[in-house]
Amino acid sequence: MADIELSSVRKSYGNLEVIHGIDAHIKDGEFAVLVGPSGCGKSTLLRMLAGLEDISGGSVSISGKIVNDLRPKERNIAMVFQNYALYPHMTVAENMAFSLKLSKAPKEEITQKVGRAADILGLGALLERFPRQLSGGQRQRVAMGRAIVRDPDVFLFDEPLSNLDAKLRVQMRTEIKALHQKLQSTIVYVTHDQIEAMTMADKIIVLKDGEISQTGTPLELYDSP
Ligand code: ADP
Ligand code: ADP
Repeated sequence: MADIELSSVRKSYGNLEVIHGIDAHIKDGEFAVLVGPSGCGKSTLLRMLAGLEDISGGSVSISGKIVNDLRPKERNIAMVFQNYALYPHMTVAENMAFSLKLSKAPKEEITQKVGRAADILGLGALLERFPRQLSGGQRQRVAMGRAIVRDPDVFLFDEPLSNLDAKLRVQMRTEIKALHQKLQSTIVYVTHDQIEAMTMADKIIVLKDGEISQTGTPLELYDSP
């Protein structure tokens, strides 16, 4: 269970303000897509949700707790990046197990969670392979697996499909939607691709120059001029 509240969120780098006071509410279990052109502040906002970035003004809270007041361990958030960020010298299973090992989870728990994630993502036959032995889509699945094993309250996706070819992108959209159906988790998904936003979102938040220019369901935005 996790809802996200952004209240007058601002961000400056030095003297340059790039996020100008954003208010938004993302409901528990909602698939929210943050869309907008390059440089509008999507990644910055996502990093603030993850607690990876200091906030210059306002607040971000998840389940009523201010993200920046929490220690990293207390933030039950998992992020999936476009470059996958897999460890090349580790197998698929080791990649998925790594964060659980770091947090000293018991071995049985790790095995169970890695097995479950592998089942959900259809990676069962690939557990002993190394990233270089995988296709782009398979690597993206492993990156999602690494997020799933942590049972996060919130999944943050940063342009996860932009390195894939067009056909695979369409297939992965469907897979990520199915994953959301299965896990019922809150998702914030960043993309510059409007079609991705339209096909995946429960709620679309359109960012422009560090401000929200529109927000609504795909149908609401499609109907509006
Ligand atoms: P998007 O993800 O929508 O492409 P970003 O959040 O990456 O946009 O960037 C928003 C703005 O903030 C851009 O103008 C970018 O140049 C600036 N910016 C991002 N990160 C930094 C940084 N570490 N230092 C200075 N400026 C930054
Ligand atoms: P190591 O030899 O370092 O344990 P493995 O690649 O065998 O590396 O496994 C890494 C982790 O992934 C292990 O801790 C294990 O719990 C889990 N794991 C490995 N294989 C499987 C599997 N077939 N099903 C579920 N979990 C697995």
